[in-house]
Amino acid sequence: MSATSRPSPLLIRPEKDTFLNEENPFEGMMSRFDYAAERLSLDQGLYKVLRSPEKQIIVSVPFQRDTGEVEVYTGYRVLYNTSRGPAKGGIRFDLNVTLDEVKALAAWMTWKCALVNIPFGGSKGGVVCDPATLSNTELERITRRYTSAIIEILGPDSDVPAPDVNTNERVMAWIMDTYSMHKRHTVTAVVTGKPIAMGGSLGRREATGRGCMLVTREALRKLGMPIAGTRVAVQGFGNVGSTAAMLMEELGLTIVAVSDKSGGVYNPKGLRIKELQQHVREHRFLGEYKEAEPITNEQLLTVDCEVLVPAALENVITRHNAGDVKARIICEGANGPTTANADRILEEKGVFVVPDILANAGGVTVSYFEWVQDRGGYFWDEETVNQRLERIMVQSFDEVITMSEKHRVNLRTGAYMQAIERVAAVHRLRGMYA
Ligand code: NAD
Repeated sequence: MSATSRPSPLLIRPEKDTFLNEENPFEGMMSRFDYAAERLSLDQGLYKVLRSPEKQIIVSVPFQRDTGEVEVYTGYRVLYNTSRGPAKGGIRFDLNVTLDEVKALAAWMTWKCALVNIPFGGSKGGVVCDPATLSNTELERITRRYTSAIIEILGPDSDVPAPDVNTNERVMAWIMDTYSMHKRHTVTAVVTGKPIAMGGSLGRREATGRGCMLVTREALRKLGMPIAGTRVAVQGFGNVGSTAAMLMEELGLTIVAVSDKSGGVYNPKGLRIKELQQHVREHRFLGEYKEAEPITNEQLLTVDCEVLVPAALENVITRHNAGDVKARIICEGANGPTTANADRILEEKGVFVVPDILANAGGVTVSYFEWVQDRGGYFWDEETVNQRLERIMVQSFDEVITMSEKHRVNLRTGAYMQAIERVAAVHRLRGMYA
């Protein structure tokens, strides 16, 4: 297989707003993959292998409402690539879940695990539902039925779920229990992001936000920008966004805006994040908070600040608003917040984008620590977890910088190149089973 025999039209980096479908996360992911593969001169055979998800599962999830009525939801689980180890990837409960979204998220997990060099492949799952309309008992029944529908592929050595949008420690506990009941013994390492009392890791809940804070600190250092006086806007005030905002405030940055799906709040002098977290614990959403100016989610993305942290959903920075972004640094807490078209605009403006597969890799890194601790039956203190996380995040950041400077590409392409090269290297060593 030679590099020269690869069909090139697919691999040309689009110069204009020509992406097939900017909103389709799988196509967006693939366009970045193609460009990085081209820069790596990846041979055609591996190119084809790494473009294809290994396994895609669609299941029906029938369940009974509290009223007795029966509903049937759709669930997905995609294992994108398991060459480096068991598949690892979250489960999302959301009305917007689609197979293409789950495929993209599973691919991102593959590149992310390779980028931070932990021995996992990538997967993702989701159930199309609106958790806001479901009672706790209904959520539990859906979780258990979905788990049993995909139980053959789950396991500490094969596929290990974690929380994602609208799932949490409690959902992980139900998955672990369902799996363990089928196996007839307790298997803690089948999920990560569990409650601490049942094999979770200290530091896991904060890990993704902590990773965002660490790479933002490294980006500021790289660009010679100070901590004091640097203003940050954070979209999304859930696990990732609220923790990132809190830790960045602790670091000495000024958080000027935060938002959630109800809208946002703005204070150019700085918000008090712990107070906002308390408000959300009491009132669920930021919307009611009266101590700061209201701001919409659209305004937040283009507010005056040095650092922008999109930590909610995909496709929020698009060709329509990328030109108005004022931040010098974007730290992608969410998966896929920037479309491929927006990337080009941001690059032309000189915005330093720390890509999702690096910026939010803190979560899967501590998930890996949790899996290791569960399998070893020996648990670490929080300081050890945080120190080991910091070492991995800083090293991965440096490796991405080195790769992007060596190949004169932006950080996203540098990160993809580093990750794809690691996955490709294992494929070459393992060879092809025929
Ligand atoms: P979460 O459910 O805890 O929080 C999501 C937040 O986004 C909430 O504040 C919600 O109100 C807000 N939101 C939802 N729709 C919005 C909209 N239309 N506009 C603005 N805000 C909106 O989820 P999370 O775990 O914090 O995940 C957020 C992102 O980070 C996702 O892209 C997820 O895939 C990614 N991520 C999460 C982890 C993790 O460890 N939790 C790890 C890596 C990546």
